[in-house]
Amino acid sequence: LSDRLSGIFSKLKSKGRLTDADIDATAREIRLALLEADVALPVVKDFISRLKERARGAEVSKALNPAQQVIKIVHEELVATLGGEARRLQFAKTPPTVIMLAGLQGSGKTTLAGKLARWLKGQGHQPLLVACDLQRPNAVNQLQVLGGRAGVEVYAPQPGNGVGDPVSVARESIEHAKRQMRDIVIVDTAGRLGIDAEMMQQAADIRDAVDPDEVIFVIDAMIGQDAVSTAQAFRDGVGITGVVLSKLDGDARGGAALSVRHVTGQPIMFASTGEKLEDFDVFHPDRMASRILGMGDVLTLIEQAEAAFEDDQKERMAAKIMGGETFTLEDFLEQLQAVRRMGPIANVLAMMPGMGQMKDQLAEIDDKHFDKVTAIIRSMTPGERTNPKILNASRRVRIANGSGVTVTDVNQLLNRFADAQKMMKQMGGMMGMPGMRRKAT
Ligand code: GDP
Ligand code: MG
Repeated sequence: LSDRLSGIFSKLKSKGRLTDADIDATAREIRLALLEADVALPVVKDFISRLKERARGAEVSKALNPAQQVIKIVHEELVATLGGEARRLQFAKTPPTVIMLAGLQGSGKTTLAGKLARWLKGQGHQPLLVACDLQRPNAVNQLQVLGGRAGVEVYAPQPGNGVGDPVSVARESIEHAKRQMRDIVIVDTAGRLGIDAEMMQQAADIRDAVDPDEVIFVIDAMIGQDAVSTAQAFRDGVGITGVVLSKLDGDARGGAALSVRHVTGQPIMFASTGEKLEDFDVFHPDRMASRILGMGDVLTLIEQAEAAFEDDQKERMAAKIMGGETFTLEDFLEQLQAVRRMGPIANVLAMMPGMGQMKDQLAEIDDKHFDKVTAIIRSMTPGERTNPKILNASRRVRIANGSGVTVTDVNQLLNRFADAQKMMKQMGGMMGMPGMRRKAT
C-alpha cells in the first residue's frame, strides 16, 4: 500500500524538475526580501543569478512544494555565501597575536575590544587591550572600564603626558605585551562618523606599527546600503582579514552581512549582540541567512518537516484518509500536538501533505490559539469529538464554560474544523477513494 501511496503523492507533487515559472516567481520574492533587508543591489543581482542557475538543475523534492524548495536552495546558497562554517581567529606562530579593530565611529569597536578580551581570557589566553583612540576625550576611559569588567589589563598613554600619539602607543604596547607575557594584543582604534582620509591614514599607520595578524572590520548591522562603500573604503585603506557585525540585537534584517562579505571577500567571524560584554557570539551563517530572508525559523521547520513527515506522518495520514476513516476533532488535536513542538503551528501544518491548500484557515491557528483549541477539544466528550454535528447550543455553552473560552471561540473552532474536514473529504475523493463518506458526519 505504501508504495502506491507514495506514487500518488509524487504524481501530485512532482513535475520532475522545478519549472522556470516556479523559480522565477520565487526568485522575485527573494529579490524583494534581500532588498528589504538592505542588501546592496549589485550583490542582490549577483546572488539571484547564481540562485536561478542552481535551482534549474534541482530535482523536485516530494515533501516540499516548489516555492519551499527554492527557498531551501536560497537558504543553502546564502549560508555558503556568508561563509559556510565560521572562521576562527588566526593566532601568530610567535606570540603575541595582534588583533587590530577598525571601523567607523560608533560601530562598536571599543565594545567589541572588551568582549573579545573577555572571551579570549575565558579560553585561557592572556590578552592585553590597547587604547589607540586618542581622538575622543572619553575613549580611553571607556576602554579602561570595559577592561576592568573583563579583568584584562589596558595599555594606554599615561595621564599627564598630554595627548599621546596613537601610533607610538600602538608600537609601545607590543613591547609591553612581550614583557608582560601577554599572548594576545587587541588594538582599539579611532573612527570618524564618515569615511575620512586622515582617519584611514592613522589606521594604516597603526597597522604598520603593530603588524597585525588580524585586522577586524567592525560594522554596525543597521548601516544598510552604506555597508558597501564603507567596507570598500576600509578594505582599500587598511586591509581587512575579518569582519564583525555589531548591534545584531537591533531590528536590522542584516543585509549588511551579505554586502560586506561580497565586497571584502573576508569571513564574518563574530556577532555582537548587545552592550554587555557577554552579548557576543561566533557568527552563525545559517542564522544570518534566515534572518536576511526574514523567515525566522521557518527554514528549520521546512527541514524538520521534510524529515519528519516524508515517511511517517504523511503515510499514516494518507492511509487514514484513504482507508475511509473520518477525520475527527480527535485527529485534529492529535495532529496539532504532533507538530506543536516543531514551532509555529500554521507553518508546520501548511507543510503537511494536503494541508498546504488550507493555508488560510491554518493561518488563523497561531500559537496563542493553540492552548485554547486544545482546551476546547478536551472539554468535549468522545462522542462529540467524533461527531461534532451533535454539538447544539447548550453543548457549546457547556464546552465554552468547561474550557474557559467564549461560545464564539467554540463556534470558530468548529467552523474551521468543518472546513478542514471538507478538505480532507475532497482529498479522499481526488485520490479516487470514496471511502470518506462511509461514516456519517
Ligand atoms: P566605537 O566608536 O566603534 O568604539 O563604538 P563603541 O564600542 O563605543 O559603541 C558605540 C555605542 O554602541 C555604545 O553606546 C555601545 O554601548 C553600543 N554598542 C556597541 N556594540 C553594540 C551591540 O552589539 N548592540 C548594542 N545594542 N549596542 C552596542
Ligand atoms: Mg571606540
